Amino acid sequence: MLQEMVKMKELSPEERVKSFDEVVLGYSEEEALEEAKRCLQCKKPVCISGCPVGVDIKKFIYEITQKDYAAAYNTIKEKNDFPAICGRVCPAEYQCRRACVFTKRNSHVASEKAIAIGFLERFVGDYGIKHNIKCKTEILNTNLYEKKYKVAIIGSGPAGLSCASELARKNIQCTVFESLHQLGGVLRYGIPTFRLPREVLDYEINYLKSLNVEFKTNFIIGRTKTINDLLNDGFEAVFIGTGAGAPTWLNIEGENLANVYSANEFLTRANLMYAYRFPQYHTPLNIGKYVVVIGGGNTAMDAARVALRLQKIKGIFGKVTVLYRRTEAEMPARKIEIDHAKEEGVEFHFLVQPVKFLSDSNGYVRGIECLRCKLGEPDASNRPRPIPIEGSEFEIPCDIAIIAIGLKPNQTIISATKGLNTDKEGNIIVNPETMETSIENIFAGGDIVGGEGTVIEAMGMGKKAASHIIRKISKK
Ligand code: FAD
Ligand code: SF4
Repeated sequence: MLQEMVKMKELSPEERVKSFDEVVLGYSEEEALEEAKRCLQCKKPVCISGCPVGVDIKKFIYEITQKDYAAAYNTIKEKNDFPAICGRVCPAEYQCRRACVFTKRNSHVASEKAIAIGFLERFVGDYGIKHNIKCKTEILNTNLYEKKYKVAIIGSGPAGLSCASELARKNIQCTVFESLHQLGGVLRYGIPTFRLPREVLDYEINYLKSLNVEFKTNFIIGRTKTINDLLNDGFEAVFIGTGAGAPTWLNIEGENLANVYSANEFLTRANLMYAYRFPQYHTPLNIGKYVVVIGGGNTAMDAARVALRLQKIKGIFGKVTVLYRRTEAEMPARKIEIDHAKEEGVEFHFLVQPVKFLSDSNGYVRGIECLRCKLGEPDASNRPRPIPIEGSEFEIPCDIAIIAIGLKPNQTIISATKGLNTDKEGNIIVNPETMETSIENIFAGGDIVGGEGTVIEAMGMGKKAASHIIRKISKK
C-alpha cells in the first residue's frame, strides 16, 4: 500500500474565522523530510511536465531529502522566482501533482497520494526567506551585461514582478509602473492574507528593490504617461503586465442597487485598504446578515471567506451563501479553497441562477430572485451548460451581494496605444514564442494576454518575455 501524503497543519475553523491570519501553517522540517522521502525519484519525472515553468521537481525534492535546503531553493529559483508565493497559491492539484505518477492517467485532478509538491515548494521557499538565501543564478549573471539598458514594466502583479526579476538579475535597469498605491497586483489586492501573508510578498518585492528595480506607484500608463512617452524617455523595451482587473457583470435587473459589489471592489477594500481594521483604517465596507456571493472560482471563495470573517469580527450573526450555476464538480476554484470555505461555515447552493436583485424602499438590495438549473451538453468552456428551469423561481434573502463571475482586461492602455492589436475579448495579442505584441519592442504577458489564469502562468509569461527582451536589446 502506498503511504498517504503528509498532511499540513491548519488553524481550526473556529479559530481562523475570527481573524485574517494564515490558515495553512506549513510543514515542519520533519514533515517535509517525511513527504520528500515518498518521492520515487522517477527515471522519467513526469511531474515536471505539469509545471507551467518547468521547475526541476525531482531534483529539488532530492535535495530536501539530503537536507540541502539552500540547494533546493536555488533549483526552484532557476525557473520560479517566488517559491514561497507559488507554494501557497499554485493549483498544484491541476498541475504538477496531477502529472505525478501517483495520480492515475487521465484523472483531471491529483490523487490524494500524489507527492505534495506545492507544500514542499512552500517549505523550501520559506526556508529561503528565513535564511535570506541569495540566489545562485543572480550571482552568476550579474555582470553578464553592462548596465546600459532600460526597460519599463507596466503592472506589478506576478507577470511584471517576474519579468523585472529576470531582467534585473541580468543587470538591466527596470522601472515598474503601478497604478495602485501598493505593489503586487492580485497578490496584494485580491488574494487575502489568510492565504498569502503580506510578509512573503513584501520579502520578494524588497528582494527586487535590492536588485535596483525601481518602482513607481500611483502611476497609470495610458493616463499619467503613454507607452510612446516611455519610449521617448529612453526605455528600450516595454512589458505590459496589466492583468484582468475589470469586473464582469450579470447584466440583470437591480445590479445597480446599493450593497451590490463586484468581487474586485469588495476584495480591494478588504485586502488592499484594510477595511477589516476599520476604524484604524478609514475604509468603509458594508457587511450584512445575509451575504450572497455569486460565482464558483477562487475569487468567489476568497470573497465568501473574507465576508464571513468580517461578519465574525463585527459580531454579526448571519450567513454567507455561494450561488453557482453548475454543480460542485464543475467549480473552477481550488478544492482546498472550497473545503476551507465549507469548514468555515460558508453555505453552497448549486444549480442556481440569479435573475433579479430585489430592492427595499431605500434602494438597497434585500433579496435575489433565482431560477433552478439543470445541466445540459458541454458549452464553449467544455463544461456542461447550465439550463434554467422555467417556473422554478424562488427568492433568497440578501443584504450584501458580491458578484464574482469573472474578470476582463482593463482597456486603459489599449485604447491609449495606437497599433496594439487585441482579440475579441480585449486581450493583447502576442507572438507566443517571444511575447512581443504587434508593436516592435512592446511585449506583454499574464492575464492581459491569456485572460484570467494563474499566478505561475503569469510569471512564466513575464519570464519568457524578459528573455526575449534581453535577446532583442542586446543585439542593438
Ligand atoms: P495582476 O496580478 O492583475 O497585476 C496587474 C497589475 O497591473 C495590477 O497591480 C494593476 O493595478 C496594474 N495595472 C493595471 N493597469 C495599469 C496601468 N494602466 N498602469 C499601471 N499599472 C496598471 N491564481 C492562482 O494561481 N492561485 C490562486 O489561488 C489565485 N487566486 C486568485 C484570487 C483572486 C481574488 C483573483 C482575482 C485571482 C486569483 N488568481 C489565482 C489568479 C491570479 O492572481 C492571476 O492570474 C495573476 O495575478 C495575473 O497576474 P498579472 O501580473 O497578469 O496581473
Ligand atoms: Fe516521480 Fe511524483 Fe517524485 Fe515527480 S514527484 S519524481 S512524478 S514520484
